[in-house]
Amino acid sequence: MSETTIVRVFRYRLYPTKPQEAAMFETLRLTRTLYNAGLEQRREAYRKHGKTLSAYDQQKELTALKEACPEFSGVYSHVLQDVFDRLDKAYKAFFSQVKKGAKRAGFLFQLSSKAESAGRRVIAVDPRDTSQRCHACGHTGKENRVNQATFRCVQCGHTANADHNAAKNILGRAVPSALNGSGVSHAVV
Ligand SMILES: [Zn+2]
Repeated sequence: MSETTIVRVFRYRLYPTKPQEAAMFETLRLTRTLYNAGLEQRREAYRKHGKTLSAYDQQKELTALKEACPEFSGVYSHVLQDVFDRLDKAYKAFFSQVKKGAKRAGFLFQLSSKAESAGRRVIAVDPRDTSQRCHACGHTGKENRVNQATFRCVQCGHTANADHNAAKNILGRAVPSALNGSGVSHAVV
């Protein structure tokens, strides 16, 4: 089941003066440069020494960086430190995705082996939009979901149990219509 997330967004319009605006763009440019340099440093550390740098490892070098490149002295330290925290987060998110991908591949492989020994086939299906797509007419939209349990297409009026509608979409992706009813059983994941 999908979770409901409430995102609250606050927007503030800033009215900077010309020099303020220039300073902001300069800070943006410097933090971007630092981000890219930090990324390169992580890659090099890993490639050459097999070492994974932490945000803290990189933040420790900020004092030396400011001495070598005085243009960074104009940027608040916590802004520069934050660059390495963001880089660290991006890294961790990336590797957790890679791990998840490896897990899914392993899971699919296991399923396939089991299915094969049982004379069945496993088909991996892209699950995107399957809960919002009308199985009858193909119209896709959030508004098709009356609630968690009920699906009602705003386009054609098709009404169904939400899980059944999604299951039909998934099956439709797994089995092209020409093969439907061929008598082969499928496990869909
Ligand atoms: Zn429809």
